[in-house]
Amino acid sequence: MALRTLDSLGSLSGKRILVRCDLNVPMKGGAITDDGRVRASLRTINTLLNAGAQVIVLSHLGRPDGAPDPQYSLAPVAQRLSELLGKRVTFASDTVGGAAEAEVNRLTNGDVLVLENLRFNPEETSKDENERRGFAQKLADYADAFVSDGFGVVHRKQASVYELATLLPSAAGLLIASELGVLERLTSTPERPYTVVLGGSKVSDKLGVIEHLLPKVDSLLIGGGMLFTFLAAQGHSVGKSLLESDQIEAVRGYLEAADRHGVRIVLPTDIVMASEFGAKAKTAVRPADSLEDTPFGDSGLGLDIGPDSAAAFAEIIRSSKTVFWNGPMGVFELEPFADGTRRIAEALTEVDGLSVVGGGDSAAAVRALDFSDDRFGHISTGGGASLEFLEGKRLPGLEILGWQA
Ligand code: ADP
Ligand code: MG
Repeated sequence: MALRTLDSLGSLSGKRILVRCDLNVPMKGGAITDDGRVRASLRTINTLLNAGAQVIVLSHLGRPDGAPDPQYSLAPVAQRLSELLGKRVTFASDTVGGAAEAEVNRLTNGDVLVLENLRFNPEETSKDENERRGFAQKLADYADAFVSDGFGVVHRKQASVYELATLLPSAAGLLIASELGVLERLTSTPERPYTVVLGGSKVSDKLGVIEHLLPKVDSLLIGGGMLFTFLAAQGHSVGKSLLESDQIEAVRGYLEAADRHGVRIVLPTDIVMASEFGAKAKTAVRPADSLEDTPFGDSGLGLDIGPDSAAAFAEIIRSSKTVFWNGPMGVFELEPFADGTRRIAEALTEVDGLSVVGGGDSAAAVRALDFSDDRFGHISTGGGASLEFLEGKRLPGLEILGWQA
């Protein structure tokens, strides 16, 4: 079944529209460090404004504890949205309280209002469906229709993602529609060779996707913190590197399954070992099968893939027709460990075919390393959501908008 799109809502002129965006941007000291998710939300908001609607923007930010917490206020995000839209954006200091209601009542056609962080209300993420529904109803009372455009949260059954869509005429926004279009190209008939690059910090998060992708891809490249569980599964010692011992057996299973499917699982052959976790650490590049042999004894930890591995990965990526990459190759936030991620990003920009970067930290990494968005086929705003899609899981936030696999 197909996703309901904006045209299913009919004329938008004079209508009050709630738009669920994912404006969950990374912040440092009260400032936004990467505004990619705000930019990605502009097209839908502008489309609604141009159609003469009154727009009420909903989002979460971070993981506050179901109560107001100034460090997670959306106020700076509303400010950034105003700069990017080039027009005034009002901000309500609560979500379903007196401030929100007063601001909603002041709206006229072409106005934009941002409500405070949805997650300041425990009902937003409550396990109790009635609580979620009650909260969603208060939001629904503000508007004539609902547009769901927070791709990063479609895998969550939360009040503003799921229940709200059942209470008003609802449709997917342009961001969700375009994200879905790209992911469908990855899952239906990807052009070959098809390479998936996985990194990041948690093996267990990405295991499901490995199982689901093995029968579909030609090569699976493993970097980031998860590579050490693979090295351990092959019997190598990994010092103080990230290791999920309880996943070693599962990883052995994947290595065997890859053999059966004729899929290459490619592991790094060299690793940048560090004396400690930090930008000032001493470093040494070591072969992946002798990581214990460092000047720092067994206190060394692996924080990036080495130059030989980066070159080998880059070669496989460049000669692929379809590439999906999730998870930085190393601790890119610290310059001595950013090179692996940089080389892989560079290779993705050279793909003659479809290249997709998915994941919050991966998207932030390519921007922090000064690659402009348009050098990639697509940068997904949703990490968990795009992985769950590729795993073939059901996504409640999409199904409620009419979409079915
Ligand atoms: P994404 O958000 O793109 O899905 P993840 O959240 O899985 O990515 O992982 C991102 C984090 O992984 C980054 O903060 C990075 O520093 C960390 N990381 C990458 N390689 C390593 C490593 N070898 N050891 C520890 N952390 C790592
Ligand atoms: Mg992340």
